[in-house]
Amino acid sequence: NVRVRFCPSPTGSPHVGLVRTALFNWAFARHHGGSIVFRMEDTDKERSTQESYDAILDLWRWLGLTWDEGIEVGGPHGPYKQSERGDIYRDVLERLRDSSYTYDCFCTNDEVDARRKASGSKAQGYDGFCRDLSADQRAAFEAEGRAPIGRFRMPDGSITWDDLVRGDITFETENVPDFALSRANGDPLYTLVNPIDDALMEITHVLRGEDLLSSTPRQLALFDALVELGIAKSVPAYGHLPYVMGQGNKKLSKRDPEAHALAYRDQGFIPEGLLNYLALLGWAIAGDRDIFSLEEMVEAFDIKDVNPNPARFDLKKADAINVAQMRLLSVEDITHRVLPFLKAAGVVSDPVSDADAQLLELAMPLVAERINKLTEAPEMLGFLFVDEADFTRDEADVAKLLDETGREVVQASYDALAGLDTWSTAAIQDALQGKLVDEMGLKPRVAFGPVRVAVTGRKVSPPLFESLELLGRERGLGRLKSALA
Ligand code: GLU
Repeated sequence: NVRVRFCPSPTGSPHVGLVRTALFNWAFARHHGGSIVFRMEDTDKERSTQESYDAILDLWRWLGLTWDEGIEVGGPHGPYKQSERGDIYRDVLERLRDSSYTYDCFCTNDEVDARRKASGSKAQGYDGFCRDLSADQRAAFEAEGRAPIGRFRMPDGSITWDDLVRGDITFETENVPDFALSRANGDPLYTLVNPIDDALMEITHVLRGEDLLSSTPRQLALFDALVELGIAKSVPAYGHLPYVMGQGNKKLSKRDPEAHALAYRDQGFIPEGLLNYLALLGWAIAGDRDIFSLEEMVEAFDIKDVNPNPARFDLKKADAINVAQMRLLSVEDITHRVLPFLKAAGVVSDPVSDADAQLLELAMPLVAERINKLTEAPEMLGFLFVDEADFTRDEADVAKLLDETGREVVQASYDALAGLDTWSTAAIQDALQGKLVDEMGLKPRVAFGPVRVAVTGRKVSPPLFESLELLGRERGLGRLKSALA
């Protein structure tokens, strides 16, 4: 039975790389009918914040990446916040120490560095000084008032695993120094708590970023100890997902604005768009196909197909994928999704009045295919909902299109429409085409640009004749007139 985990650290604003990792875990688990455990790795008290914690949950909910056990849903292996599992970690640490898998280490980093320098060694990390302290050495350290940390004793030989993405990987343990599992104050470190939780939560597959690959031999060695102590049932399989590269062939980092996952929501991406794009960072459903649904991804997902080579993050492509996913939504669905943006911009009332709701239902079919992001809806629709007293036009568009010729066109349009019997899209179209194109001989682009700016305030808008119909006779004619004032 497949069990994977979401285990973000709530430090800072969640990164798109984190979402890509979560998505691959999700697709893998759903493909295999397995379970997803969500735990929060908030061990680092200094760096973890409530703000980041809340942002992660908001993000997951927006994305619709569901989980079966853990944070907020509970389950048999809780608590699911590492900050609440201190007793568990202390207990395991004690058992590891009792069985000599760890030893007490009294060294400071400066002392280790000084010894490395003195011996001319270029090796990194701990040098094993406290591995086999005599009783006298120990007593001397304690007499100095030093508090020891728990340090894991790496076994001799080599550590090999069959990485789900990269195949066989081997580390010689002489290159993997003994490592700290706790701080001097007893607080457990990531190196300890991550494998313990994977063990106790019975995780079978660990899919995570390549940046964690160098910690895997240490975790596997610790896992072997946990298995021998009967704390872990078995060792999970590990798969390391490729790096995500940003500009200039550098790893996408928190400093890159496109790295912040929630910014996509705020900029009007739909979750289907972002997830579809992120799925392509290391995976493909087929060589010639970029657009697919999550259901299709789940159906097709095989971890063996993940490409170990670094994936390039391309914002233009993300935009294009998002647009393609937008086009697959029904008008009702898009309406539902743009509503929060329309409310936030004050375009419609909150709660939505009946009048606004009715107008929106009529207007959305005109714009649904024209907006590339949900955030474009307020700009597109504002002219329909605004009180006449507050209606304004884009200054640059006015300067460009309502010049002398433009004003003549607008005057002629007013004349053609003022006498209409029926105010309908068809009648408006007939009248304007008859006047501007047939009678005055204008090209449609020249003819309708100025009318559009006069009526909607912008040169990009929903279809003109329909917009005029929705505005109604009084407001429509009023705007043509006020454009000439
Ligand atoms: N909490 C770790 C991180 O955010 C994840 C570690 C793991 O996936 O093993 O980087």
